[in-house]
Amino acid sequence: MAYNTQNRKLILEYIKQDKYVSVSDIYNELTNRGKKINKSTIYRYIDYLEQEKLIIRHIDTNTKKTYLQYVGDNQTCRGHLHMKCKECGLTVHLPTDLLTKTEELHEFDVEYDTSIIQGTCKICK
Ligand SMILES: [Zn+2]
Ligand SMILES: [Zn+2]
Repeated sequence: MAYNTQNRKLILEYIKQDKYVSVSDIYNELTNRGKKINKSTIYRYIDYLEQEKLIIRHIDTNTKKTYLQYVGDNQTCRGHLHMKCKECGLTVHLPTDLLTKTEELHEFDVEYDTSIIQGTCKICK
């Protein structure tokens, strides 16, 4: 199937909110806009966007759900942790040096680009 630039644009725009979005979120959004698209197609677009280094994919280890975060020009997002609100998906960027001392102490390398700290933001509490 050809790489449909309009769908790519819609998906990218949707992910660009400063939030983690799931594949179901993208699917619902596009379907609400009257687009005929299935989830495997969305996964394929996500693969492309990931290869282009525009997004980071996080897998929730509990639910095995995939969440996507737009990074675009903000490549520093690969070098720090994020907190994610479980209710609304709000993303908080944590300081890059937050765990530096702990990592040194334990000689442990945290995988920043695949780790998310989950919680509830002040609006959703
Ligand atoms: Zn970030
Ligand atoms: Zn929230």
